[in-house]
Amino acid sequence: MEGIISALKKIRSTIFSPKVTLQKRITYAMVLCAGFGELFGAIESYLIGLPAMAWLLPLISFFLLTGLSIWGIKTQKTNLFATICISITGLIIFPMMFFANAGLHGGMPFYLLVAVVCAALALRGKTRIIIFILILLVYSGLFVTYQYCPQFFTTMEHEDAFIDQLCSMIIASCVLFTFSYIVSKQNSHDRHTIQQLSMLYERQANTDELTGLYNRRYFNNFLKLAILTLGDTEKLHIAMFDIDDFKFVNDKYGHPFGDVILRKFASLLKATEKNGTTVCRYGGEEFLVLIPKKNRSEALKIVEDILEETRTTIEVKDGRFITVSAGFMTCTEDMTYDILLQEVDKKLYTAKSSGKNRVIS
Ligand code: GH3
Ligand code: MG
Ligand code: MG
Repeated sequence: MEGIISALKKIRSTIFSPKVTLQKRITYAMVLCAGFGELFGAIESYLIGLPAMAWLLPLISFFLLTGLSIWGIKTQKTNLFATICISITGLIIFPMMFFANAGLHGGMPFYLLVAVVCAALALRGKTRIIIFILILLVYSGLFVTYQYCPQFFTTMEHEDAFIDQLCSMIIASCVLFTFSYIVSKQNSHDRHTIQQLSMLYERQANTDELTGLYNRRYFNNFLKLAILTLGDTEKLHIAMFDIDDFKFVNDKYGHPFGDVILRKFASLLKATEKNGTTVCRYGGEEFLVLIPKKNRSEALKIVEDILEETRTTIEVKDGRFITVSAGFMTCTEDMTYDILLQEVDKKLYTAKSSGKNRVIS
């Protein structure tokens, strides 16, 4: 009894966890529904006074499925478990009950649909097709037999047949509804997970890990698009920054400290995004800032402010401050992406060769 209760609990938590594979969830939902369906069917058949076979078969089926569930949970062989359960119920017990429950006159045809849906959802590969074909063949055979040899089937009063059909319809509907609900829930859960993952990968693909700024790949595409869509009257400026004597900082204070400086400078640049800029780490200790929709002097002021803030706030351990050099260019309509970057790089080189800690425009 304890085994049955713990198996039922395990089945319940498996069915309702979207992290479990759909096949596993459907398999356990199917066995649970089938198990209780059989129990309900046995009670119903007994109460309406059907012959012993009509209530004994579902009762045997209930105990069989319960035993199989315990085995299935212990072994975790979902595929084999699903195949055995569907084969036994769909191909052996249901057909036997077809004879015991007055064939087409009773409610058994509804379970044909349940067996087919179970095969489609819980089985995989060739097994699924084979079992589906077998179910169709067996049930077609049963329909034909009922048509031409009705004496093989038990008979049922019209009233009893009505009750049997009604109960079977309700059970089959509940089972099919539960399966469809699980599939639909799982589908929306999977879509949500895929959406989250693709957003995460997109962010990772476009972001520099150390500083959290856009990386070179993203910036290149962004800049190309910005140049392409630059209208006659629109303005676009670009500034290329390079930290001065950064090798010295690394050599003297160590690489991890150098990383801290890079992060500090990156967050200082990021703060300019409130002015509509786009900031990227172009490589090593080089950064690019794109400044749209500002006139030249406003844009240059943003760059000079960055230099000033760096030389007054980013301190190295011995009281010295970090400085940066920058090249500044205003983009005109006739400029290509390559020319723009070449030109701004030249200006940066001039800033370095003329003493560093300055911007050349
Ligand atoms: P200059 O003033 O002419 O720019 O001299 P510099 O020393 O800054 O330039 P250089 O190109 O010689 O050195 C750049 C250094 O930046 C060398 C490299 O080790 C360091 N660097 C590049 N990427 C990283 C990084 O991710 N972290 C750290 N800590 N250092 C880096
Ligand atoms: Mg450099
Ligand atoms: Mg440098």
